[in-house]
Formats: sequence, C-alpha cells, structure tokens
Amino acid sequence: MERPARAEHPGIDPSLIAWEEVIAPRGGMAFTMRAGQVCRVIDLEGKQVADFICFNLRDYTDKLSPENTQLLNGTLFLRTGHHLFSTKAAPLMTLGTDTCGVHDLISGSCSEYTNAFRYGVRGTPNCLSNFERALRPYGIGLAEIPYSFNIFMNTPVSADGRTAIQEPASKPGDYLDLRANTDLLVAISNCPQERNPCNGWNPTTLGVVVYEVEPTGRGASAP
Ligand SMILES: [Zn+2]
Repeated sequence: MERPARAEHPGIDPSLIAWEEVIAPRGGMAFTMRAGQVCRVIDLEGKQVADFICFNLRDYTDKLSPENTQLLNGTLFLRTGHHLFSTKAAPLMTLGTDTCGVHDLISGSCSEYTNAFRYGVRGTPNCLSNFERALRPYGIGLAEIPYSFNIFMNTPVSADGRTAIQEPASKPGDYLDLRANTDLLVAISNCPQERNPCNGWNPTTLGVVVYEVEPTGRGASAP
C-alpha cells in the first residue's frame, strides 16, 4: 500500500513530532513512549476502532485496568481530562483533545475465542492475536495482556444495562490525544472485526503520531 503523504496534524507543531505511522487494516504495533509525550490516534477513513493498551515501562505488572479506569473516573464513557488507570491505580495516561467523543471501556478485544463463540469461525484476524504478535519482542505473552480501551468503539449502555455494538461515530480524520504520565510501553490493534458493526463492516487504516508538547533540551532547566 502506498504510504500517504505526511499529513498536517491540527494543533501539533511539526517540529515536535517524534514519529508517525500508518497501521494497515487488521494490523497492530507496539512502541515505547516517554513521560510527557502525547500519542495521537487518528481514524483516517472513519468508523475504525483502535484497541489500545499500555504498560508501565518499568513494571509490566502495572498495566491498563479498564476496571480501575471506570471506578476511579466514575464513568464508563471517557472524555478529555479522564485518565487511563493501571492495575496499581496509577494514572498512566490522560485523555487530551478528542474530536469524536465516543469510545468504549467495557468490550475488551476481539479474539480467536470470541470469534469462534459468536461466529463459528477459526483462525481469523483479531485484536488479541495482534497484541500477542506486537508484544512478543517485549517478552509479554497472552496471559499478561490486559483488556483494552477501545478508541472510537461505540457500545452504548441502555438504562437497564443492555449493551450492543454499533457503528463508530468517528468521521475521517477524527483523533484522540493521550498524554503519557510515565514512561510506557503501548500497543495498538487496528481492529480486524468485520462480522459486526464495530468497524462499520469494513476495516481501514489508522494513523499514529507521537509528539512532544514542549521542545526537548530547551526551556526549563533540569532540576
Ligand atoms: Zn478487535
């Protein structure tokens, strides 16, 4: 696939971009971030979910906890200013600019197992396998992979507690910024699901930009 030309990113000074990448449909990636850097996840073509997990870089047992995130923010529906909390109740990341406003904290990741249970299919691309593949170089196996925060996923909860996956509300170019509050290992799966409305029935590309908020090596002096 032809790599798109370097895009303009609203609100980001191009000189502060550490790197940017396009995740192919059904693909995944893992990378490290330093405290203070921001990860922007972009739905390039619209209606595409990014399954997102992170680990404290110095302690992989301290990792994203959707349960603590719900408990300590007091909501199922994360907005700007909410934190992604860890198993040890650390606010690993903070949500910044959000042009979509609809994300999911309760549905976890699609997997070999749920696809077999729900659709009777085996060996299909799935988010859990993407995470396994992306995290293998870091020595993290299936048992250590947490449930995910699902950017752009649309799972409304009715007053009586029922849930149903609907098509994402995200339009082409919608993005969510997540600031790292500590050094992190991050993994993103570009959700391959095409048997329900999760990705509008058509998995497409995601953009990832990691950038600095302030110039490094300048400004405030080191303590
Ligand atoms: Zn998925």
